[in-house]
Amino acid sequence: MKLTPLASDSMGARAMCFLVETDDIRIVIDPAVALGPIRFGLPPHPRELARFEELQNRVFEEVRKADVTTISHYHFDHHDPEHPDIYQGKRMLIKHPLENINKSQTKRSKDFLKLIDGKPKSIEHADGQTFKFGDTKIEFSEAQAHGTNTKLGYVIQLAVTDGDMTFVHTSDVEGPSLDDQLDFILKQQPDVLACDGPMTYLMYKYGRAALERSINNLKRIIDETPVQHMLLDHHLCRDGKWREKMVDVIKHGEGNDCKVQSFAEYAGLDESLLESQRKILHEEEPDELGNPLK
Ligand SMILES: [Zn+2]
Ligand SMILES: [Zn+2]
Repeated sequence: MKLTPLASDSMGARAMCFLVETDDIRIVIDPAVALGPIRFGLPPHPRELARFEELQNRVFEEVRKADVTTISHYHFDHHDPEHPDIYQGKRMLIKHPLENINKSQTKRSKDFLKLIDGKPKSIEHADGQTFKFGDTKIEFSEAQAHGTNTKLGYVIQLAVTDGDMTFVHTSDVEGPSLDDQLDFILKQQPDVLACDGPMTYLMYKYGRAALERSINNLKRIIDETPVQHMLLDHHLCRDGKWREKMVDVIKHGEGNDCKVQSFAEYAGLDESLLESQRKILHEEEPDELGNPLK
C-alpha cells in the first residue's frame, strides 16, 4: 500500500485529502481544498491563495487517475461542489446525505448530488458499510460526531486494508475525544493513522476536558495498536504551536516506536502552517493593494 497526503493544513490550506494506492485500486479520500475565510480578523493572504491553487491542482490530477473517491461529510474542505466534473466516471462512496446529518449539511449534500448528477459511475452510501476490491477492503464507521459533539454534524471514518497493512483516515473527529471515535480506530488496528487532531486554536470552544481526553486517547492508540505513523493534522495544524501542545503524545510515541508527524512531515515536505501565520504574513508582506486589513 502506498500512502500520499495530497493536501492538508500542514501543507498550507484546509484539507485532509489522501491518496491510497493498493495493487487493486486507487482511492482519493475527501478530494477538496478550502481556505479559512477569516482568521485573526483577516482574509487569506496572497501566499495562501497561491498555495490553495497549487494543492487543488494536485488533488484534481490524482482524482482524474483514481478509481474510487470517498466523501466523509459535506463541508467544503472535504467535498467540492464547484468542480463537479472531477467526479466523472468515479465510483463514489459517500456519507449518507439524509441520515445522521445536520440541517446545513443536508442542504449542501442535496445541492452537491444535483450538481454531479449523471457524472459518477456509481454513488453508494458508505456509513457502516464495507466494500471489497480484490484483496483490498474499505470499511467505514457508522456516522460519528464532527468533533466533541454533533452541533457541526456527523462524519464517517474509514479504514483501508490490503492484507499487508491497514490505514485509517478519521475525517473531522477533532481529537479523537469521544469513545465511539476512538473505538473504531482501536478496532481497525492501523499501521498508519491520518487523524484530525484536537482543535487547540479555538480552546474556548474546544475545552480543557476534551483536550485531556484526546491526548489520553491518542496515547491509548499508540499503546493498543501497531501504529507506526500517527499523522496529526487539519484542525490541530491551524495552531503554530501544535507540537508543544502535543508534546506528551509525541514523547509517548518516541518511547513506543511510533512517529507522531504532520501530513507534510510524513510526505517529506517542509511544513507550512500558512493559516496560523496569516497575521504575520499580512504584516510582513502586505499585498499589492496595500490591503492587510479586513
Ligand atoms: Zn468538517
Ligand atoms: Zn475539515
